[in-house]
Amino acid sequence: MTIRTKLTLSMSVLIVFILLFLLGVTHVQFYIFRDFAYLEDKAAFESLREEFEQYYRTNGDSWDHVQSARFEYSGSFAEIVLSAEGEFLVQQGTLSADELRKNGYKLVLFEGDRRVGRLYVMNDKQYKTYEFKTMWYTMLPNIGIASLLFTFIAALLTIFLLSWRLTSPIRQIIQGIASIQKGGAAAVFPERRKDEFGAISKALREMNDSLADAERTRKQLMSDVAHELKTPLMIIQGELELAHETGKPLSAAKQASILDEVLRLSRLVHDVLDLSKLEAGMTELRPRTENLAALLEDVVEKTRYMAEDKQIQLSMHAVEESIPVSVEKSRILQALYNLLTNAIYYTNPGGQIRLLVETTHVPNRQQPYARIRIEDSGVGISEEDLPHIFNRFYRADHSRARPSGGTGLGLAIAQQNILAHRGWIEVRSVVGEGSVFTIYLPM
Ligand code: ADP
Repeated sequence: MTIRTKLTLSMSVLIVFILLFLLGVTHVQFYIFRDFAYLEDKAAFESLREEFEQYYRTNGDSWDHVQSARFEYSGSFAEIVLSAEGEFLVQQGTLSADELRKNGYKLVLFEGDRRVGRLYVMNDKQYKTYEFKTMWYTMLPNIGIASLLFTFIAALLTIFLLSWRLTSPIRQIIQGIASIQKGGAAAVFPERRKDEFGAISKALREMNDSLADAERTRKQLMSDVAHELKTPLMIIQGELELAHETGKPLSAAKQASILDEVLRLSRLVHDVLDLSKLEAGMTELRPRTENLAALLEDVVEKTRYMAEDKQIQLSMHAVEESIPVSVEKSRILQALYNLLTNAIYYTNPGGQIRLLVETTHVPNRQQPYARIRIEDSGVGISEEDLPHIFNRFYRADHSRARPSGGTGLGLAIAQQNILAHRGWIEVRSVVGEGSVFTIYLPM
């Protein structure tokens, strides 16, 4: 069912309900008027009742000849009917006895405790309301049909115009979606509207943008990975082809270089998989309470030999002896390891690396945080590179000949690991002076 049909139907149902309601209200109002009119003439009503009861008593407990009797108060009423055991004995006025029984005011007549008859009466006012009611009821079918017809036509016209206006943004949205499906030019949605359609359009556009972003990222990742795989594969292929063509066995140095490239490939594949899982939120953390100071000491011990090789002075200071955090050890160790090996790699021989771990408070956050600073006196990162270094495969020095086999994914993996623990990494750097990477982890 289209929106237009639904609107037409609901409007028609509404009109019928309004008419029925009017009918009900008139009906109820009639009885209310009738009873109010009774209150005005209450004394006269009671006197007439007494007159009838008296007639019954003096007539030897019988209504015989009542139709020829004269009742003084009957003159003040427009209509009267007396009924005993369902038969009508007296009638005065123009209304039929049945009509009066339905619309008149009922008085029960007693002889002692015994009911001896029923008197139905109407004074002038009651009669007038009765007349009005009957007139209204005779007119109602005509008025009803006419107004129903009129309102129906008017409603149809309004609905037609209204639904055209109402559904026009929907049609635009459908067109927009169709153009997205066809992969055509940027879809146009009625975003400027201030109503729900504007909100839907905005949400759709944002959804489309983020899907397009995700698609771009996916394509970029594919091409980056292919590019990264190409160089080591070409080196391996070249060496093997040469050996094959010349028939000479591979020298030990060539074997070592091939092994290096194979290791680089395997590291790359491992890192890409790891990062994809982290980014997709598919890595389930199994956190346990760990002492962050101890974890940092662990990483320092593992990397000390690299620093010593380059005569870099590596020092660590934990402000508190125990800094408990709920983390998955291997994930935090991986992040710390990546940051520390970077610091060692990008620091010239004879330089310094300082590590500091402490608890701290962050503005606008209630819970305390653990803060780890990794400060090096290395080559630093330029302002242009700084915003991109956490991107996959981004290398500030644009050379991939890092002997330790950097894949360009180290910082991205470190960042995803810390984000997964609801923390974050900040970086400050001055070219030629060094860099400071700071990790915040909730405690
Ligand atoms: P890579 O495998 O190339 O080290 P990363 O993701 O770990 O990849 O780092 C990205 C880039 O950030 C590096 O290529 C380097 O240019 C820059 N970088 C990271 N850490 C440091 C540092 N401590 N000092 C200077 N530059 C750094």
